[in-house]
Amino acid sequence: MQPIPFKEVRMKNIMLTILLFGLLCSTAFAKPAVVATLPWVASIAEAIGKDKLEIVTLVKPNQDPHMIEAKPSMILATRKADILMYNGLDLEIGYLPVLIESSRNPKIQPGRLGNLDCSQFVSVIEKPSAVDRSLGDVHPLGNPHYHLSPKNIGVVADGMAKRLSELDPANASFYTGNAATFRNQLQQKIREWQTMPLSGKRFIAYHRFFEYLSNEFGFSLIGYIEAKPGIPPSAGHLQQLIDLSRQTKPHAILTTAYHGRKQTDALSSRTGLTVIMVPHEVGSTAQAKDWFSLMDAVFASLR
Ligand SMILES: [Zn+2]
Repeated sequence: MQPIPFKEVRMKNIMLTILLFGLLCSTAFAKPAVVATLPWVASIAEAIGKDKLEIVTLVKPNQDPHMIEAKPSMILATRKADILMYNGLDLEIGYLPVLIESSRNPKIQPGRLGNLDCSQFVSVIEKPSAVDRSLGDVHPLGNPHYHLSPKNIGVVADGMAKRLSELDPANASFYTGNAATFRNQLQQKIREWQTMPLSGKRFIAYHRFFEYLSNEFGFSLIGYIEAKPGIPPSAGHLQQLIDLSRQTKPHAILTTAYHGRKQTDALSSRTGLTVIMVPHEVGSTAQAKDWFSLMDAVFASLR
């Protein structure tokens, strides 16, 4: 057998060293891969992690968040995730358990550092005393739409920063610093939003989507087009709403893009009430570029 020339061995060693060094560097400096279910979750992660994170969002802004199904592209994304961030309160029940299992990714399994249920930080409202899914209720653990709650979003941002610091300790001060900046901006914006003339106004809504907001900003929701969350109205239920509208003269009917206008327009034509299409998610309108501008757009729509 021909001996391998010394030069060739040395060359091979150099190549191997470069390869190993490259591999080490890419591991040491790889950005944590975040998979966020909803655009608002991604927006808070973006505010806390900025360019230190690679963020993939699974659901598009104008999809109905209660009705999402798992897709192969979502499984692929969760397979590569270092951390999965989600709304919780069973809003993602239709697809998230499938994704977590199909991903076969140990990092994002429940109980692991890479599994972040953002609702754990939230003061949940409308917790039912008994749950019967056969009735079609899509809010079995309480109202899941806390992303329109400035009070709760501040706590979610802090919780997210804490978890990211545990996951990526080298950038811990970066994450906590950004959370503090987020908090400051939030305090300023809350003061601004509190000057909006919302207090005392009455609305009818399609879905129980605005309850956190109404609790924090003093307006009331006096009726819902859905008989229960996720259940379309009967003719009798609509008639009750027409009677209620005539008696109490609410300001308007609130709906979101994914619920459409069929039922709300029907009620509007019988009562003369205005229908307001409230921006409901980051990215649902051109103005709603991040969580803060979403909230600005929400308040502007309710005036
Ligand atoms: Zn809902």
